Amino acid sequence: MRSISELGDLRGKRVLVRSDLNVPLDGAQITDDGRIRASVPTIKALSEAGARVIVCAHLGRPKGAPEDRYSLAPVAARLGELLGRGVTFATDTVGESARSAVDAAQDGDVVLLENLRFNAGETAKTDEERAEFAGQLAGLAEAFVSDGFGVVHRKQASVYDVARLLPSAVGGLVETEVGVLKRLTEDPERPYAVVLGGAKVSDKLGVIDNLLQTADRLLIGGGMVFTFLAAQDYEVGKSLLEADQLDVVRGYIEQAKERGVEIVLPVDIVAATEFSADAEHDVVPAGAIPADRMGLDIGPESGVLFAEKLKDCRTVFWNGPMGAFEMEPYAAGTAAVAKALVEVTEKGALTVVGGGDSAAAVRQLGFEDAQFGHISTGGGASLEYLEGKELPGLTVLDETGPDHQTEPDTTKDPA
Ligand code: ADP
Ligand code: MG
Repeated sequence: MRSISELGDLRGKRVLVRSDLNVPLDGAQITDDGRIRASVPTIKALSEAGARVIVCAHLGRPKGAPEDRYSLAPVAARLGELLGRGVTFATDTVGESARSAVDAAQDGDVVLLENLRFNAGETAKTDEERAEFAGQLAGLAEAFVSDGFGVVHRKQASVYDVARLLPSAVGGLVETEVGVLKRLTEDPERPYAVVLGGAKVSDKLGVIDNLLQTADRLLIGGGMVFTFLAAQDYEVGKSLLEADQLDVVRGYIEQAKERGVEIVLPVDIVAATEFSADAEHDVVPAGAIPADRMGLDIGPESGVLFAEKLKDCRTVFWNGPMGAFEMEPYAAGTAAVAKALVEVTEKGALTVVGGGDSAAAVRQLGFEDAQFGHISTGGGASLEYLEGKELPGLTVLDETGPDHQTEPDTTKDPA
């Protein structure tokens, strides 16, 4: 993988940057600008090097066509504030507006293209469709910088295909993120604990397989905990449950025993009548969730137990809130884990928080980024890295090593 400095003199060059600007919004209000902040250094460095910077990114999950509520316009404004210079916003991604904004850009100028996912080609399953859109993106620029760590696990046009069409380099954010994750996979200091929570249960269950080979302790909260509780034949009521994964989870519990990996489950649960901040809710034993209730947080005893299990750790990776923290009655479990991480960080442990919602949660709960070893901008990407999977957005950068031609070879089959 080559870094930006290896792209040569960038003055006057049009450089396309894939950033991760997928921030949570409340209407047009950005509720956590962490990912924009994390993207600023690379964009700034390119601008200061005299490049004409063309930033591309996605927001939310539009279905391949424009949708007002997923416009990057509010992000362009915030990016401009953080950069301390105006950002030209193109109201399309590769159309008239994008082309004229790019044509008008002077050295050092920054252009942000509208949401990549307003174009079906961005996430298309077929290589041909993606390659066509990637070709249009590549047509705007002379070089490509991959800096969207949150998407490097996706084989998408702006992440993967475009890197095969232009001289490409890895951005500083992706370099930093990968550097930290390497420390977690290559001989982490022990005890090494992984805390898993959040809502994307089936995605995250898959990681456990690999973590059972590397971690000493696995603390489980959030939505996936109910599949673990149900695997022990506990009643989980209306809680999130992946019924088809029960046998897989039973297998994990067996494997953990054989390998001497400790799986720590909550002993109490905050159980509510419905998914709402106003719902009636009580703390109940983890083994006795009423049939008409759903678990929305780990309980206070579990918070104490989890903190205890993290206290002596030298390495901790955390992905996924312990509960539906966006609602105040269900935020205490996440706060307890965050506090425990801050305390071991102070004692010199390496702590990494990964995931969009996890990062937003610690900030919302009043913690500072600097209180943790590293706050990763990518949840899915960091989990897949820890799983040992190949991340297409990284491998493609290896392919386009230093021998890659400077001029894009348009005759080459992009698939
Ligand atoms: P990340 O973005 O950090 O990878 P996820 O996207 O997997 O995390 O999950 C975050 C979401 O999980 C939050 O919006 C939170 O409300 C939700 N969540 C956590 N615990 C529960 C639960 N017990 N039931 C329902 N939702 C939950
Ligand atoms: Mg999330």
